[in-house]
Amino acid sequence: MTTLADPVPGGRPGDVERATALSAELAGRGVHGVVLAQVDTAGIGRVKTVPAAKLAQAAAWGVGMSPVFDTFLADDSIVATDVLGSPDGDLRLYPDLDHLVVLAGQPGWAWAPVDRITQEGERHPGCGRTFLRRIVADAERRHGLTFKAAIEVEWAFGLGTAPRGVFEPAASGPAYGAIRQVELSDCTADLLAACAAQGVEVEQLHPEYAAGQFEISVGALDPVAAADRSVLVRQTVRAVAQRHGLRVSFSPAVLARGVGNGGHVHLSAWRDGANVHSGGQGRYGMTAEAESFAAGLLAHLPALTAVTAPSPASYLRLRPSQWAGVFTAWGRETREAAVRVVTGTRGLTDRAANLEVKPVDLAANPYLALGCLIAAGLDGITSSASLPEEITGDPVRLGTDLAQARGVRRLPVSLEEAVAEFRGDDLLRGALGPVLADAVTAVRQGEIAAVAGLDDEQVAAAYRWRY
Ligand code: GLU
Ligand code: MG
Repeated sequence: MTTLADPVPGGRPGDVERATALSAELAGRGVHGVVLAQVDTAGIGRVKTVPAAKLAQAAAWGVGMSPVFDTFLADDSIVATDVLGSPDGDLRLYPDLDHLVVLAGQPGWAWAPVDRITQEGERHPGCGRTFLRRIVADAERRHGLTFKAAIEVEWAFGLGTAPRGVFEPAASGPAYGAIRQVELSDCTADLLAACAAQGVEVEQLHPEYAAGQFEISVGALDPVAAADRSVLVRQTVRAVAQRHGLRVSFSPAVLARGVGNGGHVHLSAWRDGANVHSGGQGRYGMTAEAESFAAGLLAHLPALTAVTAPSPASYLRLRPSQWAGVFTAWGRETREAAVRVVTGTRGLTDRAANLEVKPVDLAANPYLALGCLIAAGLDGITSSASLPEEITGDPVRLGTDLAQARGVRRLPVSLEEAVAEFRGDDLLRGALGPVLADAVTAVRQGEIAAVAGLDDEQVAAAYRWRY
């Protein structure tokens, strides 16, 4: 669980004592350093590290890092907004001790996600993790709702011996194939062991569709912890793969054509300990609230893609009939609808029912993505939005007229289109606040400019090893 308390200069009550005890424990376990992990607006994981002996100091006073990373692009160039992107200023990174883990795939290292506050001790308005914590806290206060979330992680294993920049799949066996599972048996067993040692509850690990592709699905947690877990899982996959001479790509489109890497989000709302997606009078047992929540998601999805599919490479993945969910449609267990209603199996529905949002990839900052998805769903509840009729089968078969008649829209086909939708969505921009909303727009425009004139193959290559 995540405490919803912001860090403060000097440390939250008990933090320093806890960090001091943790330092001693880490030393006893052979840990020398702690990775302080954040994700920037472009979706790139960025880190600072401190010696394990400095953990108490980091918990009390944070660790310095420039706010300029809020407007970094995936290629490490920098854009500017009115308030971000300047070389001036400093922020403090505060490790969240509740989520500190010893890294099984990187001996000698521990890892913790961070919140960022200003030197004056204020929330940094560009901090994605702080944003998500605020959205979750507000949802509980205003709506009496809490959430559970899980982010699926897909990636391609490439051979470490391939020429620089080139993707050579590390397995040749078929999709979901027994051959592929055996080919990468040692690496994936180590991955399961590392996840278990780190307290990451794994639901499944399997060979996926595309060349060299695998997927891991993990247990649901509160949204902040779920986003942290998604970052940790990727750190772990990378580290374990590297020890086996493999490279991994979480890019939405490792190759320009074909099925890409998704980061599907499973999300459920809970009231007084009860799952609102089950046991109701609505379709498939949804309560009226759950239907409105799904309707809110659908209504905001075109604009949400600027946050959930933030890379030019995202739009190589977001194509029909590739299980990426590129139409504003919902359906029970429909893998081509953007929102898949998961009811769970009889006997499990009260625990398992949730919504799976598909047009999300792992270029997305998971904190921003979850916060915006929740804000969109809550908007549906606030306005008692009604859920349109279910769409079964692949929505692409509806054709333009029927799709329009049924309120089914194709999601943006480019990052330019997504940004235009995002600019027009006051609810999402308002939820993010002016600083984050401007950062999102500026960074997306920067990415668009960075790929101007490139063809699909060049776009895939440009982002292949960045996520
Ligand atoms: N790889 C697909 C995607 O891009 C998802 C496959 C699946 O349904 O797990 O989202
Ligand atoms: Mg999958």
